[in-house]
Amino acid sequence: METIQTLYNLIEGASRITVAVHTHPDGDALGSGLGMVHFLTDNLGKNAVLVLPDSVAQPLLFMTAEEPLGRILVHSENQSETESRIESSDLVFCLDCSSFSRTAGMESSLRASKAKKVLVDHHLNPDKEAFNLVFSTIDSSSASEVLFWTLMELPGIGGDASKLSDGCRKALMTGLTTDTNNFANSVFPSTLDMASKLIATGVDRDAILHSIYNCYRENRIRLMGYMLGEKMKITSDGTAYMILDRKTQQKFDFRQGESEGFVNMPLAIADVRMSVLLTEEDTRFRVSVRSKEGTSANDYARTYCNGGGHELAAGGKINFPEDIPSPDDAEAYILNTSARFFSR
Ligand code: 5GP
Ligand code: MN
Repeated sequence: METIQTLYNLIEGASRITVAVHTHPDGDALGSGLGMVHFLTDNLGKNAVLVLPDSVAQPLLFMTAEEPLGRILVHSENQSETESRIESSDLVFCLDCSSFSRTAGMESSLRASKAKKVLVDHHLNPDKEAFNLVFSTIDSSSASEVLFWTLMELPGIGGDASKLSDGCRKALMTGLTTDTNNFANSVFPSTLDMASKLIATGVDRDAILHSIYNCYRENRIRLMGYMLGEKMKITSDGTAYMILDRKTQQKFDFRQGESEGFVNMPLAIADVRMSVLLTEEDTRFRVSVRSKEGTSANDYARTYCNGGGHELAAGGKINFPEDIPSPDDAEAYILNTSARFFSR
């Protein structure tokens, strides 16, 4: 209760508020970020802006398409504007990332900022020292959910979800839906309670589901079929892996964000314990890891992929030439590290 009052006082006393989320923002980063910005602007009339380390992936553009100009700044597109916004803010929220180290090019300005800093998150090991106030638990589906329950406690909302603005409720419902894979994982009683409250206030879940799951480019679905049919391999330890290399990206005109969800699919196979998806970039592979109960995706990502995340859903990167001599060595790296991981 004391922290809620502190949060309220921080918001009340702030005139320029900046909301930051993690690099390559997913539905939960955008949902919680937009939910926060909508609450601050629509409900409280504050000057609030969402800053993204990089641009919104094609499949998630529907989330930001109707936002007014200037409400969202993208650091990779305009560094100086984003940095001066951060510098001139007196309050900064960091959502869906446990540390500023997940904010790519914005990290140094966020760390250097004199603003008060508030973390709202659901990852393991939050960097509490970097923040004045922390709302973080791993017993929650998503950052959108942690934010929802935090906002519900604020004076003026008093537990009544209908008081949150339309834009806020829609964004939070979208973040909740994507981070749980449409209620397939990380679902707590509080998660269903939140969904129930939001639907009761008129949030159009069908429209959200349509935008998330029924509006892909044809190429994305064909790429998914190709990856599962031609690229997926499974080790004797039960590690399924797929490498989305440059050649395949070009063949399917791949766009960032279009492989969302692929990594979950091999877990449907009985003998698969862990699934790894590598996506080739200029100097590294981005890594997504998912695991079944009893195997720690977080542990694998931390130990071998310079990353982390949640127990069963984590990510990281494999750099070349630091971690592997060249992109061609990625498969050997996965085979090697997976064997070591399961023989510990
Ligand atoms: P995804 O595979 O969907 O990109 O990420 C899954 C989870 O891993 C997310 O919770 C995300 O925050 C976390 N994650 C992804 N990439 C990284 C990374 O490079 N470092 C850390 N620490 N976590 C990551
Ligand atoms: Mn996220």
